[in-house]
Amino acid sequence: MKTKPLYYEDCHMDRCAAVVQSCIPQGTHWEITLDQTVFYPEGGGQPCDLGSLGSARVLDVQERAGQVIHLCDQPLEEGATVEAVIDYPRRFGFMQQHTADHLLSGLIFQRFGFHNVGFHMGADGVTIDFDGEIPPQTLLELELEVNQLIWKNLPVSGWYPMPQELAQLSYRSKKALDWPVRVVRIPGIDLCACCGVHVANTGEIGVIKIISCVRFHQGCRILMLAGREAYVYLNAVFQQNRSVSQAFSAKPLETGAAAERMCQTLEAERYRNTGLERRLFHCIAKGYSGQKNVLHFEPELSGDGLRQLADSIATEISGTAAVFSQSDSHYGYALVSRSEDLRELCRAANQALCGRGGGKPGFQQGRVAAEQKQIQAFFETQWGELSE
Ligand SMILES: [Zn+2]
Repeated sequence: MKTKPLYYEDCHMDRCAAVVQSCIPQGTHWEITLDQTVFYPEGGGQPCDLGSLGSARVLDVQERAGQVIHLCDQPLEEGATVEAVIDYPRRFGFMQQHTADHLLSGLIFQRFGFHNVGFHMGADGVTIDFDGEIPPQTLLELELEVNQLIWKNLPVSGWYPMPQELAQLSYRSKKALDWPVRVVRIPGIDLCACCGVHVANTGEIGVIKIISCVRFHQGCRILMLAGREAYVYLNAVFQQNRSVSQAFSAKPLETGAAAERMCQTLEAERYRNTGLERRLFHCIAKGYSGQKNVLHFEPELSGDGLRQLADSIATEISGTAAVFSQSDSHYGYALVSRSEDLRELCRAANQALCGRGGGKPGFQQGRVAAEQKQIQAFFETQWGELSE
């Protein structure tokens, strides 16, 4: 006996009493069929409903030859009457997303003639693939139009037309279908072959937001959020913007300009710092003028700063400049020499000071996990007593 699909009669029905028709063990689970059900089986890009049949949890729902198969974690007695209850908030979210897909796909088909060639509902929203590229400047316009269709609260209806009626209907479909075909209509905007469940009126979607549109194969892929998902996302963005607004002391709608000004200020500061650093390095280098080898410690230098300071010192001396700078639990280093091959010295330093690094003969860079005293002791053994 075929299962009576109550989800097509009333999309808002979240529970029903049903008689268990069969219960067949399947591995560690049981496949249960009922005389009627509120559980939508996976299909048409829409995930199945989850919930419970009496005391059994429903883990998956599939349709096979007109029968709805509920995969459950417990057996149920054949002939028993049970209460079937779906996770309605989850289902309602899918209905919002699915119906919003019809509005956007119907509108894009009307406007551009592009077909919806792929549809997926996931945790991050709905992705819809089209077989043509949508001009980016029209996306906001499309989004507004879909929202206006939502606010018109248009009725959404689905039915199985008789073969004669079906032959006369011009409906969207991903592939050629044999009768019977279920079609879903939103008047004036879409007529589409679809087995999914939808909200009864578009107003139930509330709002949609197009998040992105990227090139995909020969067309594009739109990521869209609808209803509750859109609300949750936009609320998270609102909270983020509030934090930015407080940090910049800017009005909520002026945070972009405030961030841009901050970036410009930082860029100018960076430029100024680089100039100051260069002058500082020059002064430090002059202090070592005429010496042979130099070991120098300088706080808070970046990798590039290390190299530049070592390079400045190396131009003033006849041997090797070794510059170390502490960061967290280690010291970064740069070794520069105009006259010597430093590869052997670097290898020995890495070995003695638990380090790693290397480079060209006249320039070596890396880091060591050692104390300042150990570093000094190492270079004293290499170079003899170090001058201050
Ligand atoms: Zn649909």
